[in-house]
Amino acid sequence: MSAIVPPLFRELRGLADNYWWSWQLDGPEVFRDISRSLWETCGHNPKKLLAETLATRRTELDIDPHYRARAQDLIARFRAAMQPPPAPPPGIDPRVSAAHPIAYFSAEFAIHESLPIYAGGLGVLAGDHLKSASDVGLPLVGVGLLYRQGYFLQDMDRSNWQSERYVDLDVPSMPIERVMSPDGRPLSVTVIIHRRPVHVSIWRVWVGRVPLYLLDTNREDNEERDRWITGHLYGGNQDTRLVQEMTLGFGGVRALRAIGLTPSVFHMNEGHSAFLTLELLREGLAQGAPLEEATKAVKAQCVFTTHTPVTAGHDVFGVEFMDTHLAAYWNELGLTRDQFFAFGRRRPDDHWEPFGMTPLAMRFARSVNGVSRRHGEVCREMFRDFSPEREPAAVPIRHVTNGIHVPTWAAPVARSLLAHYLGAGWEARLGDPGTIARIDDVPDAELWEMRNQLRRYLVAAVRARAHESRTRNGEDPDFIAAADHLLDPDVLTIGFARRMATYKRMSLIIHDQERTARLLTDDERPVQFVLAGKAHPFDNEAKRNFQELARWKRPIEHLGRIVYLENYDVSLARFLVQGCDVWLNLPRRPLEASGTSGQKVIANGGLNCSILDGWWCEGFADGNGWAIGAELDDGNADAQDDADAEALYRVLENEVVPLFYERDERGIPAGWLARVRASMRSLLPTFNTDRMVLQYAREVYGPPA
Ligand SMILES: *Cc1c(COP(=O)(O)O)cnc(C)c1O
Repeated sequence: MSAIVPPLFRELRGLADNYWWSWQLDGPEVFRDISRSLWETCGHNPKKLLAETLATRRTELDIDPHYRARAQDLIARFRAAMQPPPAPPPGIDPRVSAAHPIAYFSAEFAIHESLPIYAGGLGVLAGDHLKSASDVGLPLVGVGLLYRQGYFLQDMDRSNWQSERYVDLDVPSMPIERVMSPDGRPLSVTVIIHRRPVHVSIWRVWVGRVPLYLLDTNREDNEERDRWITGHLYGGNQDTRLVQEMTLGFGGVRALRAIGLTPSVFHMNEGHSAFLTLELLREGLAQGAPLEEATKAVKAQCVFTTHTPVTAGHDVFGVEFMDTHLAAYWNELGLTRDQFFAFGRRRPDDHWEPFGMTPLAMRFARSVNGVSRRHGEVCREMFRDFSPEREPAAVPIRHVTNGIHVPTWAAPVARSLLAHYLGAGWEARLGDPGTIARIDDVPDAELWEMRNQLRRYLVAAVRARAHESRTRNGEDPDFIAAADHLLDPDVLTIGFARRMATYKRMSLIIHDQERTARLLTDDERPVQFVLAGKAHPFDNEAKRNFQELARWKRPIEHLGRIVYLENYDVSLARFLVQGCDVWLNLPRRPLEASGTSGQKVIANGGLNCSILDGWWCEGFADGNGWAIGAELDDGNADAQDDADAEALYRVLENEVVPLFYERDERGIPAGWLARVRASMRSLLPTFNTDRMVLQYAREVYGPPA
């Protein structure tokens, strides 16, 4: 920008370089109100928006007292929030400090829709972890990869088959900076891959007080094929995955050293980053420690969170890939091939077992945890053979239940309403029991008006998105015009949005097609469904299942009671979790380790209706939502589908629908709102990332027992 930029805009420009704005009340709006159309075309990236704002518009806003006051208030709050915390959160290990932070490694981070380097829940969890660490003042840095083309954009063709579109991220327009050395040159590190040095750039994204370091091999001094190592998240074949994980693990530790950081704890968020343990081992051996001692030292620094009981979620690499890529490393470590392979095997002597990232992480971590109470149990059973002498109950795997970052997921109208009754800043005080106790003070009429408003926003957003995507697909004009009448703002709205993994069972909602149609078309008490989710590019089964669902809904499409939205991302997720009355989750037990999308609806007054799996096993209590089916798993998938579908229909028909439409003389569903309050009261204090991060700080990052 040129020198004539008003000072206010220079300050906004500074604000745009830190994603802190994205979770503040009036944060996104201060940028959006510069130009609503630019805000959309810039993909909600304020740095880009500011660069494209016309000088006349800047001047106009600069002299608008109302706008100035809002912007200055946000800037002042930013300055205050960036101060170092006066003291670390209580109860944490004093060795954790700014110079010795927690290093949190993850293959994906969902910070915001304008930084599309995530696929789903794992990334959202990682992003929310960083935001809460910033909010509570826990010294932490993130380490991940900057994917040149992110995950993918989803296109549904006219036959409802998903295809994937890959677009280069426009990095210069994004709030990302190169990390520089003290003498002002861009820092980089090297990792040996394909038997040659691959150069890795180091970028930094600010997430409040927390820096997120992103590694990237797309450099001119790398060979063409190496430039694509960080091309796509979860793309490519086994070879790509392996070299990507080498970049994250080996490169990540080297990057932190180059930056001058000595983390006190290395947290592996899923096994993708587990090679970091071998880099730490290499460092220890290079300093002359014997193997056993060096191994102990690595173990004293590493903790591991495992995220899924689904086998495909645990990376294993065949011997041929390992030989190609890692022979140089075991030589450098002074280890034999056998010793090295033993690190990655559940049964170290089993020569047929491929090299697994989960066994590697477990072997070198002083603490291993699952992500809900139920998942902890599942893990202890699952990894029983890892420690054959033990009974499952004694396998040393604990759990820290996942949460969500409330300020990211709660709608502005919900935050304001709750601020009025729970006190300003309630989001940061959920751990204090007095905070949520005041939920009973919120009058029915105001709570119901909030729900209606959020449902109306959702309906408007759905219509706009559907209109746009039907136009893009060249559908016929009547069908495009019908997009403007999709959904009804007064109808009970049920949301189902998540990765289209088979175990998530989106198709269960049409298990009995006639019965579903009856729910949707009831004259007096209809329901409407909003669906979204991407299938993994190689998951043809999920793509076929979706096609079947789409074929089913086509004849009743004109009723506008069931809508599928493309390109599920965090921006779409916000609309959905804020607007839906009921959030459905239908996983095949026990495969949902936690699930977090249901936690996002709570502060928005949505209710959960879910299979008893993952977080819902500990969240559900009588009157705060609905449980579908029993907490059983008889091992027969088809029988489970039949029984769960039957239970789902019964809950919807006999409980959810009647309660929603039972109104008093003012048109208010008092019974429904009682449930909304019970949901907030019982769930908000626990299922949030402030609680989660503080629990990690005390129980996992703290000194070994
Ligand atoms: C929250 C979220 C998820 C996680 O959903 P679950 O299926 O409940 O684990 C996935 N994708 C996006 C975009 C999300 O916002």
